[in-house]
Amino acid sequence: MRVQVAIIGSGPSGLLLGQLLGNAGIETVILDRSSRAHILGRVRAGVLEEGTVGLMDRAGVGARMHAEGLPHDGFSFAFDGRDHRIDLFDLTGGKRVLVYGQTELTRDLIEQREADSRLTIYEAANVTPHGFDGAAPHVTYEKDGVTHRIDCDFIAGCDGFHGASRKAVPDSAIRTFEKVYPFGWLGVLSEVPPVSDELIYANHARGFALCSMRSPTRSRYYIQCALDERIEDWSDDRFWDELRRRLPAHHAEAMVTGKSFEKSIAPLRSFVAEPMRFGRLFLVGDAAHIVPPTGAKGLNLAASDVHYLFSGLLEHYQDRSNGGLDAYSAKALARVWKAVRFSWWMTSMLHRFPQTSDFDQKIQEAELDYLTHSRAAETVLAENYVGLPY
Ligand SMILES: Cc1cc2nc3c(=O)[nH]c(=O)nc-3n(C[C@H](O)[C@H](O)[C@H](O)COP(=O)(O)OP(=O)(O)OC[C@H]3O[C@@H](n4cnc5c(N)ncnc54)[C@H](O)[C@@H]3O)c2cc1C
Repeated sequence: MRVQVAIIGSGPSGLLLGQLLGNAGIETVILDRSSRAHILGRVRAGVLEEGTVGLMDRAGVGARMHAEGLPHDGFSFAFDGRDHRIDLFDLTGGKRVLVYGQTELTRDLIEQREADSRLTIYEAANVTPHGFDGAAPHVTYEKDGVTHRIDCDFIAGCDGFHGASRKAVPDSAIRTFEKVYPFGWLGVLSEVPPVSDELIYANHARGFALCSMRSPTRSRYYIQCALDERIEDWSDDRFWDELRRRLPAHHAEAMVTGKSFEKSIAPLRSFVAEPMRFGRLFLVGDAAHIVPPTGAKGLNLAASDVHYLFSGLLEHYQDRSNGGLDAYSAKALARVWKAVRFSWWMTSMLHRFPQTSDFDQKIQEAELDYLTHSRAAETVLAENYVGLPY
């Protein structure tokens, strides 16, 4: 088989890239090691920047997102028993975010790809990129015990943090930067109305908490936990009790609780691989970088990478120019590092770190106090939260 662009990974970055390229008449195949059902069942991010919304529209898959997504003009910090609202809309001159689950976004993209009869190969084992440092890149994979080969012009490595694309690059050609945080997030999804119409980020002596949602009837809540916590030790009742303790009394009293139908612990990590291009292989999204979810940037960074790579590929095929592809890594990384900084800053400001000194604690309190008393500081936060321009 031969295609113009072989895409490894059917997550948001691979699917969005495939849809944009397909609409422009550029032929793709998507290879994923997981099953369709597994991919559609994953619960992850849920806050979309306007840039991500715009790319979904450009890909022709925005209808359900606009019908069911919840536009948010602000969010709150909760600390010292009170709330402080950040008015994103006012502070950014009219920008907002859209709450729409990654699970739904993935479904929209997969269903449209199927409606357009574009090929995705699920449960492809040992997917491996080859020859990307020369003129004949190709991808091999195994399916039902048979090895297959796909020849292509370019390979897009959209296969997430644990994928095969980054691992195919020689160590001498890549540099990585990493920060592992000494805690994780215990998250639950429950069919209960959210405690607030907007997200609440809570800083509390017992640890961070986040009240988020997926719809007016479905809540997504998180609490900071130790890395060695075991999910089986967290009954729903224990989770709700702990969440309530970390919120101001008026929220704790108003909270509707119920049975959870998803419960997981995610470690928090910042990671960047440089560069993001190796000859004819491009790393996209989580394959190249990870951020802690505190700033809601992971999915949105995947989308901005897609924007830069799609523009470069379009320029290559339509204008016979490689300028965009040559600039891909530098442009994507410039935006990635700003989001890495923002996510690290939000994480540092809102979590309780083990063995934190009294000095560090006072600095954290001063940071929150400054943020909630300075319009300039709030504006910096809001500009980053809604997403820096592409
Ligand atoms: C548990 C969890 C919770 C998260 N919560 C949030 C959040 O609340 N907010 C936020 O902003 N971000 C969150 N993120 C991050 C966000 O989900 C990611 O940034 C986003 O999914 C990146 O999209 P992607 O397409 O680059 O990678 P992925 O979504 O990881 O997709 C990669 C795809 O590649 C496939 N794949 C992997 N390895 C191979 C291989 N060897 N061969 C073939 N296919 C392969 C996978 O099956 C997958 O379908 C979370 C991530 C995780 C893991």
